[in-house]
Amino acid sequence: MLSIKNLSVHYGGIHALHGISLDVPAGQIVTLIGANGAGKSTTLNSIMGLVKADGGSVSWNGQEILGAKTKTIVESGIVLVPEGRRVFPNLSIDENLTLGAYARHNKAEIEADREHVFSLFPRLKERHKQKAGTLSGGEQQMLAVGRALMSKPKVLMMDEPSLGLAPLIVGMIFDIIRKINEEGVTVLLVEQNAKAALEVANTGYVMETGSISFSGSGKELLADDRVRKAYLGEM
Ligand code: ATP
Repeated sequence: MLSIKNLSVHYGGIHALHGISLDVPAGQIVTLIGANGAGKSTTLNSIMGLVKADGGSVSWNGQEILGAKTKTIVESGIVLVPEGRRVFPNLSIDENLTLGAYARHNKAEIEADREHVFSLFPRLKERHKQKAGTLSGGEQQMLAVGRALMSKPKVLMMDEPSLGLAPLIVGMIFDIIRKINEEGVTVLLVEQNAKAALEVANTGYVMETGSISFSGSGKELLADDRVRKAYLGEM
């Protein structure tokens, strides 16, 4: 279980997170939805140690990880697929996947995981020697997820995986999120696509200007008038 309590982040004078609290129980898919600038990416980046928090706690199976180095956090089983994919454009699919396993040493296990990633994303296997920069947006997103899986995570955090992708590809990405979760990986998902995210999630949290406004099961939030008006474009 990943448990965030009173997490607070400032960027200079901007108070981006006002002491937020949320729980990500093992085995679940939890989603964080909210408007642009609400603080969703900041939440993921501070859990990952990429942004410095100025207060609060991130407890991972009972251990405090706030303030730990990103490498230590990855080794402890938490990984982030960042917004905008950030694959290495001049490296091949194979090389990008190998980098995802940088903290691991057992070659046989790494190769087995590479084959597993290829079974989830056959398209990556077909193109394994192709440079990542020449892949389509959807293929780059698959590679970013595949690269994260190469670290053998217990918790996979994803920042806007569906951003800028065609509807068919978005559907594929959400199917894969479900499948990865069924294989035992806990998921913390940040999404603008609130409908798809709430449909796949056990629990959702709604963020507004640096605070969590309310939360509920995915089903409850899909039926909630506040969510329907503000995030599902319904009247
Ligand atoms: P989006 O969906 O647009 O990415 P978000 O909910 O992920 O939005 P954040 O990116 O976490 O929101 O941003 C929260 C607030 O912090 C915003 O007001 C943003 O302008 C500010 N912010 C984010 N990163 C920085 C930074 N590096 N320096 C200064 N301010 C920042």
